[in-house]
Amino acid sequence: MSQEKSLPAGLHRDTLALRTGLARSQHGEHSEALYLTSGFVQPDAETAMRRFAGTEEGFTYSRTSNPTVTSFEQRLAAMEGTEAAIGASTGMSAILMMCMGLLKMGDHVICSRSVFGSTLNLFAKEFAKFGVETTFVSQTDVAEWAAAIKPNTKLLFAETPTNPLTEVCDIRALADLAHGAGALLAVDNCFCSPALQRPAELGADLIIHSGTKYLDGQGRVMAGAICGPSKLIVDVFGPVVRTAGMALSPFNAWVVLKGMETLGIRMQAQSAAALVIAQWLETQPGVARVYYPGLASHPQHELAMRQQSGQGGAVLSFDVIGNDPETARANAFHVINSTQVVSIATNLGDTKTIITHPGTTSHGRLTEAQRQAAGIGQGLIRLAVGLEHIEDIQADLLRGLSGLATLNT
Ligand SMILES: *Cc1c(COP(=O)(O)O)cnc(C)c1O
Repeated sequence: MSQEKSLPAGLHRDTLALRTGLARSQHGEHSEALYLTSGFVQPDAETAMRRFAGTEEGFTYSRTSNPTVTSFEQRLAAMEGTEAAIGASTGMSAILMMCMGLLKMGDHVICSRSVFGSTLNLFAKEFAKFGVETTFVSQTDVAEWAAAIKPNTKLLFAETPTNPLTEVCDIRALADLAHGAGALLAVDNCFCSPALQRPAELGADLIIHSGTKYLDGQGRVMAGAICGPSKLIVDVFGPVVRTAGMALSPFNAWVVLKGMETLGIRMQAQSAAALVIAQWLETQPGVARVYYPGLASHPQHELAMRQQSGQGGAVLSFDVIGNDPETARANAFHVINSTQVVSIATNLGDTKTIITHPGTTSHGRLTEAQRQAAGIGQGLIRLAVGLEHIEDIQADLLRGLSGLATLNT
């Protein structure tokens, strides 16, 4: 295997997305090779011994490392601007790997209340069983994070913007807070991807990815990763994945590698379309409120623009009108069910636009009181904007929206 050229320094991330992590075989294939193998043949017993002892580089078994997965890791690290990255089978297993590597019984974590639902459960339910305590705090109020710090706080965990209300937290402020307390800051960068937001440049120590979302970008495979300094990736998380086995499949790594080549252009296009749709939704009589960081009306608009390369990202949410929860839900269902183009689904990060009713799906298991505290009403609709023509997405939403103002409010 050979890396055919050594790249010059200072390349743009769009170039890195295409040119890093090219591990070519002796055949010189132009596209990344897919090494779909569980094990690797060793030239002799002595080499095998050294590779297993870790004193010589070389592949042994795909749970430990695999050339296609390594290509993915190198490419993602280059795009995030971190020393290294490590693949995981899903975004959730990346968070699991990170916590297994960093935390032990008696440690304390501070986490935003608005993180991805499974992340919330992982900390609140699973890690609580092992004696790791988590304090959940406001997404946007740094003072609440500061007040939650304890002598045993090891990790601050944030996600920005959040799902589905697109609340933005100040990565730099949280990084300073973590470092002042001798803790680490991990940021889930799933929604913006490195095309728009690079948390390491803002002081974050670790960056979590669900490759399932924008990195693949076409809704094909599950994948995850942690990006960060080599001393953590190689010395702490490497042994965790080797023993615990949440390894990324080489096939999935290969699919995501190809997805990353178009990440920059997809994020620009989907983000630009989301802004147009968000602005247009604000003018619709059937819409009560639009949540999108690219809008001047968004409470953290300026911070988001600074932090996210001037882009709002591709996910927006909006409340349809409705004076009580039942009416609001009926109106939201009417809008969703009237669509003929966009997909009714709960995932995001696809080139195909997805429409979701968070209140009865992703957040359906919360009590009504919890949902109201989280600001997720029955009239809320989330739209993960894809690459269809904007006018077709607008017309699709208008099918149900147009009648709402005169209908059952
Ligand atoms: C989807 C998602 C995850 C989990 O990723 P999986 O690949 O589905 O395990 C984590 N964080 C955020 C923000 C997500 O949207």
